[in-house]
Amino acid sequence: ASDPPPAEDISESDIFVAVKTTKKFHQSRLNLLLETWISRNMQQTYIFTDGEDDELKKKIGSHAINTNCSAAHSRQALSCKMAVEYDKFIESGKKWFCHVDDDNYVNVRTLVKHLSQYPHTQDLYIGKPSLDRPIEATERLGDNKMKPVNFWFATGGAGFCVSRGLALKMSPWASGGHFMNTAEKIRLPDDCTIGYIIESVLGVPLTRSSLFHSHLENLQQVSRSEVHKQITLSYGMFENKSNIISLKGAFPVEEDPSRFKSVHCLLYPDTPWCPPQISE
Ligand code: UDP
Ligand code: MN
Repeated sequence: ASDPPPAEDISESDIFVAVKTTKKFHQSRLNLLLETWISRNMQQTYIFTDGEDDELKKKIGSHAINTNCSAAHSRQALSCKMAVEYDKFIESGKKWFCHVDDDNYVNVRTLVKHLSQYPHTQDLYIGKPSLDRPIEATERLGDNKMKPVNFWFATGGAGFCVSRGLALKMSPWASGGHFMNTAEKIRLPDDCTIGYIIESVLGVPLTRSSLFHSHLENLQQVSRSEVHKQITLSYGMFENKSNIISLKGAFPVEEDPSRFKSVHCLLYPDTPWCPPQISE
């Protein structure tokens, strides 16, 4: 089905795309993104990392943000980054906050079209649910009291978006140091904490979209003709097997194991390093 008529005429510059990364992935993951989708979307993309990198600064300048968060894969370190992403988004004044990981390809043109169908002033939380049921968590209330809570959350590894209207309401639980405290209250990762604040605290339901993809799903199911309709893609391992979209594209799997270069050539065929188009 095609998107309904736009509720709002937005452009790329209305979207804040936050990419979460860590210094050890600057070479192996981030460079691929900088060569592909970020190269076309420098103005709206912000990279949140945990170490200084002069090469990265040369490429994207002030859009490389050193969060000064720990480089560990701990719950605290990841929440620390999400907290900085949130604060920078609020500061930016943009209409939509979108978060992705450094193993995501973002099709920004499709993202803009998709978000255009919603008013950014309303409460919107859009993404792919991580589980097929709400997560069951325990909220720590202080004086050793606990309260069970159930809520849906969008998996961070597939990317998700939050409207500015909703993001502003999240402020008491998300801004400044509050996000870290909220994450500690439920002792869950950053993407769950976002879901907790939105669904459980504010009572705003997740808007499900099947156009966001993580490597926790079978990516083989995304076909070539459907690629341009997707908002995010990913690559990785699943149950010990390589999990990539199946795309006979510009580059063989050996040269392009993530398939992101081939995807990029499909979406932006005028890219100088893409092989010339063969008309069929
Ligand atoms: N990440 C991070 N610090 C770390 C490890 C990972 O910020 O110490 C980031 C990484 O760059 C990516 C996200 O967390 O954006 C998820 O990491 P990964 O894809 O390795 O793990 P997954 O959870 O998808 O299995
Ligand atoms: Mn991943």
